[in-house]
Amino acid sequence: MLNGTKRYITNAPEAGIFTVMARTDSTKKGADGISAFIVERGAPGLSLGNIDKKMGQKGAHTCDVIFDNVRIPASNLIGGVEGIGFKTAMKVLDKGRINIAAASVGAAERILRDAIRYAKERKQFGKAIGEFQLIQAMLADSHAEIYAARCMVLDAARRRDDGLNVSTEAACAKMFASEMCGRVADRAVQIFGGAGYLAEYGIERFYRDVRLFRLFEGTTQIQQLVIAQNLLRDAA
Ligand SMILES: Cc1cc2nc3c(=O)[nH]c(=O)nc-3n(C[C@H](O)[C@H](O)[C@H](O)COP(=O)(O)OP(=O)(O)OC[C@H]3O[C@@H](n4cnc5c(N)ncnc54)[C@H](O)[C@@H]3O)c2cc1C
Repeated sequence: MLNGTKRYITNAPEAGIFTVMARTDSTKKGADGISAFIVERGAPGLSLGNIDKKMGQKGAHTCDVIFDNVRIPASNLIGGVEGIGFKTAMKVLDKGRINIAAASVGAAERILRDAIRYAKERKQFGKAIGEFQLIQAMLADSHAEIYAARCMVLDAARRRDDGLNVSTEAACAKMFASEMCGRVADRAVQIFGGAGYLAEYGIERFYRDVRLFRLFEGTTQIQQLVIAQNLLRDAA
């Protein structure tokens, strides 16, 4: 029987099946007592909360998924073995983290493109603002950071394709790229000036949308813990 509520599930209002990690052995502490399941939308006892009202990412719906004595057939146990759900989750998370890092690079590239276009268009004191060195510094810092994050994403993805353990690299790429994207979006608002704060120019939407990258698939603090714990374990 599954009981409990998982909050903020992306696409839950549209989903036909859910993958669920749940504790199946209360005698074991930590990761060992967790199993992974497939649960179908129509399962008796499974219900959904209202669609969340979010800061951004309004095209992707999220809501709570509520389990009230949901009975799961043994055939729905992923991997067919109890207690390996956390390991399954970690494998999925490494891939997911590289994915969020790549999404952060893509969003930052688009935001920088918009900022460059605006810097060439907008005139102040008789010049395009892109001619001011303080604006150029923000463009240059953004480009350098995007380039660094892009290299990290490609390196982590190649290592994963080669079958290597990329727990540290995926966490590094996710942490750096999502934080980088937040800095690039913030600078873009600055380059747009007052227009950066107005909905009609589009930059404020990116600023809100990319804020999520630092939170989901593990917050920046959780990536820091993963990286540090791996370093300390490997040095032992
Ligand atoms: C729009 C959206 C979509 C999402 N989609 C999904 C989804 O599809 N599937 C899914 O499973 N989840 C999803 N999530 C959940 C998301 O992954 C979590 O919200 C996120 O991992 C943070 O967990 P939390 O909200 O419980 O924050 P908390 O764990 O309460 O964290 C609060 C603060 O404490 C810090 N913190 C927590 N623990 C530690 C620690 N040990 N050391 C130092 N600092 C710590 C965090 O970094 C954060 O700053 C989604 C969330 C959002 C907002």
